[in-house]
Amino acid sequence: MNCELISVGTEILLGDILNSNVQFLSKELASLGINVMRHTTVGDNEARLLKALDDAFESCQAVILTGGLGPTPDDLTKETCCRYFSIDLREDGEILRKIESYFRLKNIDPMPQCNKKQALVPTVGRVLENNNGTAPGFILEKDEKIIVILPGPPKEMIPMYRESVKPYLKQFTNEVIVSHNIRTFGIGESYMSEKVEDLLDGSNPTVAPYAKSGEALLRVTAKAASEKEAEELMKPVIDEIKTRLGNSIYGIDSASIEQTVVELLKNRQQTAAFAESCTGGLCAKRITDISGASEVFHCGIVSYSNDIKHSVLGVKQETLDRFTAVSAETAREMAEGARKLADADYGISLTGYAGPGYEEDVGLIYIAVADKNETVVKKLLTGHRGNNCRDYNRHVAASNAFNQLRLAILKNDK
Ligand code: ATP
Repeated sequence: MNCELISVGTEILLGDILNSNVQFLSKELASLGINVMRHTTVGDNEARLLKALDDAFESCQAVILTGGLGPTPDDLTKETCCRYFSIDLREDGEILRKIESYFRLKNIDPMPQCNKKQALVPTVGRVLENNNGTAPGFILEKDEKIIVILPGPPKEMIPMYRESVKPYLKQFTNEVIVSHNIRTFGIGESYMSEKVEDLLDGSNPTVAPYAKSGEALLRVTAKAASEKEAEELMKPVIDEIKTRLGNSIYGIDSASIEQTVVELLKNRQQTAAFAESCTGGLCAKRITDISGASEVFHCGIVSYSNDIKHSVLGVKQETLDRFTAVSAETAREMAEGARKLADADYGISLTGYAGPGYEEDVGLIYIAVADKNETVVKKLLTGHRGNNCRDYNRHVAASNAFNQLRLAILKNDK
């Protein structure tokens, strides 16, 4: 099946909002084996939308539209699609009552009259319930053409797609596409690709390398008649990749390196405390983004000044004077100090030069991980200098700290 996605909304054309709906829908449709032929965006304009529908049906059997289902006169997606298929609209009493009670729930009574427009439904076709807003969605069929209409807000569109549209579309495909992301850290895209070069030529499953924010990943994708069959096709290839890349793999389908670290610590009932200088609390922020982090994260100390490194973390004045704040020695004492202060299993520290600037030291960051046996210090050179390097250097430093912690946890398992 071929499909086109039409996003409706002048806001998107003006760049006021990012079109995340097409990203979500494209991924979902690909996983069903449906070919997305084109993404089109049109403003709130009936003539242009009619033309877009005409163009789309030249090469597609199905068109999925998002947006323009609101209560105001410029919301015209439903009306235009019905006109395109010559379908009339009627008021649906049950939907009207649902919309009224939705407003009562929000303490808005009476409901604004313009919202009555959202209770108008096509006289033929399927109405899709909206459990997260007021505008229902629709599936219209005519002469082997399909129009799916979904609301614009992602929090309404995504559940409606999952609950109603995906099960409906499944009848048109006899294959599924399943992917797994094998996420690595510390080896870089080139080295990773070299290690699995022969596997990159496969056709089912395919193996494709990607690099992003200092990380490299391999996406393994299989096409089959069922999910189970796709998993079976992928298993030997994923096992082979695991053997070749070993510890460099931090997770399969893991959301992030900090997610993996939280899980590792949780499973071992262990805790961590961070002492951050150049990252200014980024590690603490990223780890506390993970739900359930409170079980494993003790504290994060943003020890930016030398005074605090000394008085709170116990870094010796002599160390600071002799080696400076950005040194392996200071990183070591910061990590040990954080571990001691919080009585945690692991103390992790970061100290370095995030930039911006072109000086030689920009991008130099020391990361230390202390546990009860030893303290390991890593000297990281991000290779990023210049005017815009600060965010990148801080992000990559924090990711490296999580990775160093991960490796220390795995080492202690042995
Ligand atoms: P409502 O019924 O809630 O008014 P709607 O179906 O009329 O929604 P729009 O009015 O087109 O949708 O858009 C409402 C909001 O939904 C936008 O301000 C934007 O925040 C979000 N939105 C719309 N289209 C998209 C899109 N393609 N990607 C991401 N967000 C979108």
